Amino acid sequence: MKKFFTLLIAAVLMVTFPANAQNSQSIDNADAAADVAGDSAEKFYASLPQAKGDYKSKRRPILIEGAMNVETEILVRALKNPVAYRELNWLFVAGTYENYPVVVVRTEQGVANAAASTALAIKKFNPVAVINQGTAGGHDPALKIGDIVIGASTFDYTAIKTPYTAAGAGFDITQQEMRGTYAYDAATKKFQPYAEYRADTTLFNMAFAAANDYRGAKVVSGVIGTGNAWLQNLDHINFLHERYGSSCEEMETSAVAQICHTANVPFIGIRVLSDNITTGHDYNPHVAKSCQEFVLLVAQHYIRNILR
Ligand code: SAH
Repeated sequence: MKKFFTLLIAAVLMVTFPANAQNSQSIDNADAAADVAGDSAEKFYASLPQAKGDYKSKRRPILIEGAMNVETEILVRALKNPVAYRELNWLFVAGTYENYPVVVVRTEQGVANAAASTALAIKKFNPVAVINQGTAGGHDPALKIGDIVIGASTFDYTAIKTPYTAAGAGFDITQQEMRGTYAYDAATKKFQPYAEYRADTTLFNMAFAAANDYRGAKVVSGVIGTGNAWLQNLDHINFLHERYGSSCEEMETSAVAQICHTANVPFIGIRVLSDNITTGHDYNPHVAKSCQEFVLLVAQHYIRNILR
């Protein structure tokens, strides 16, 4: 019966928001579609045993992140002996995968949420590595919905300075200068601006080893652009793609990389294309499933080849 109603709601949404509608509604569609897709996670999370006391583990866990239910459910369901922790209203689930400790955090959307929940998780769980993953919108017209991007690097495309122009003079995005975001630099013992954050080499190699074993989707290396924004202006998108090589955009990866750099924790971002406005493809949150399956395979390679 419940399934029937879920299907009914999904059908109503599909009629209300047709899949290819290229209009200003598509961001609202994204929220609605993501909520429906992640609905089954909420009850499951609520049913998990609550942690009592501090997290204890002989080995440092791998921290895997997703912003929303639809981006975390497969990961949490893959954990053995899951226990839920709540800190400042963020949800963290600790368990084991491949007999190795893994913590999944639902960061919630956007850079501030991703950064804050990552900092909390680093303090609380002392992870050996952080993998941020989830959906993203394509900047590269060669990428199809469902393709997976292993982030060789990530940057905050909003961390810019624009030149002075007078009121009414118009706006030329190509005149912007990248400032970068501030992370701790061990050499100078100061927070310095970084125009990009590169993936940890070992994690990157493990992700490619996993890609060789993965048949679920095409996996490529690329650049993940981050901002608290959903861009639909093709001039802006094409500029970011051409100037900075952005493969895709989303709202968390660079912020997490920045915190991991400061805390000196190995980091990688892995994203699945859920939408690509450069080819006219609207948001499909269900692809979040294959990204999580792939990331579990990356974790398996990392555990078997590096951590054991
Ligand atoms: N609340 C969002 C829509 C939900 S989807 C809004 O109002 O715009 C946004 C989430 O999916 C973010 O966590 C982001 O990381 C990811 N995402 C997927 N496609 C995106 C795109 N084209 N632009 C920005 N973020 C995107």
